[in-house]
Amino acid sequence: MAELISGKVVSAACREKIKREVDAFKTERGYAPGLAVILVGNNPASEVYVRNKHKACLEVGITSYQIELPEETTEEELLKKIDELNGDACVHGILVQLPLPKHISEERIIEAISPKKDVDAFHPVNVGKITVGNYQFLPCTPAGIIELLDFYNVDVSGKSCAVIGRSNIVGKPMMLLLTEKNGTVTLCHSRTKNLSQITKSADILVVAIGKPKFVTADMVKDGAVVIDVGINRLPDGKLSGDVDFEGVEKKASMITPVPGGVGPMTITMLLRNTLTAAKQK
Ligand code: NDP
Repeated sequence: MAELISGKVVSAACREKIKREVDAFKTERGYAPGLAVILVGNNPASEVYVRNKHKACLEVGITSYQIELPEETTEEELLKKIDELNGDACVHGILVQLPLPKHISEERIIEAISPKKDVDAFHPVNVGKITVGNYQFLPCTPAGIIELLDFYNVDVSGKSCAVIGRSNIVGKPMMLLLTEKNGTVTLCHSRTKNLSQITKSADILVVAIGKPKFVTADMVKDGAVVIDVGINRLPDGKLSGDVDFEGVEKKASMITPVPGGVGPMTITMLLRNTLTAAKQK
């Protein structure tokens, strides 16, 4: 049976450390790090994410500014708001909750955020910095995964790694970070041929595709470390990852559960990025 990689445990340890650092920051500077989160419209899932981010900020002593704009907000109005926040000395991090309503270009909005306040690390300047290995911020989900691997002493160096999913927010940066840790990485996607052949030879397998229980035990190498990023709502209301947990846990040496694996780490890394942004001011 695989050992559980608990995002709850690691996240709690990280948040305690962040809280101590925020306290020290406040004592030294006389103000708190500030994060502005913009929500446009009323997507129920986004509302939950924004609420959780707000709560997490308060817990560690970061000031959270929640900006809720109506669905019909225009791109120009949103750009103006971002411009205001870029110039606001109390705001060190800016996050625009995605997805945005269809009439607003996500690309234009992401590019409008000052790279120094881009705590999601989605701005092309920050993406470029990650590519050359000289960065201030890492995107929260891949950064959280690296934190989990470090905490559980998973040595990536020289290992064969497979990442399934090539999104800008998870798959692609994950490939870069595992490469930086000296893993040999294969990035897979929907056009990949012989997917199971690749996954079966992976010592470390990261799955981020958004398809419940897609990765089954026969696709996994004996003793592999399996990281499941997927969050899927099943018809019965339960949450499932992209990995068939019951089957794969019998074969893997370590595995993340869903919920309680990668999920808790994502917001924790957002808190850390906000503190980093504030320290650099
Ligand atoms: P996207 O929907 O942006 O991308 C999905 C990727 O999976 C694409 O690259 C796609 O390939 C690939 N894919 C789809 N089907 C297959 C297949 N049959 N075989 C191989 N590859 C396939 O995904 P995200 O990265 O945004 O999210 C992935 C999952 O992770 C979702 O469930 C999401 O909810 C979850 N998530 C969880 C987070 C957390 O904090 N735990 C944070 C972010 C996401 P192609 O490019 O060819 O289309």
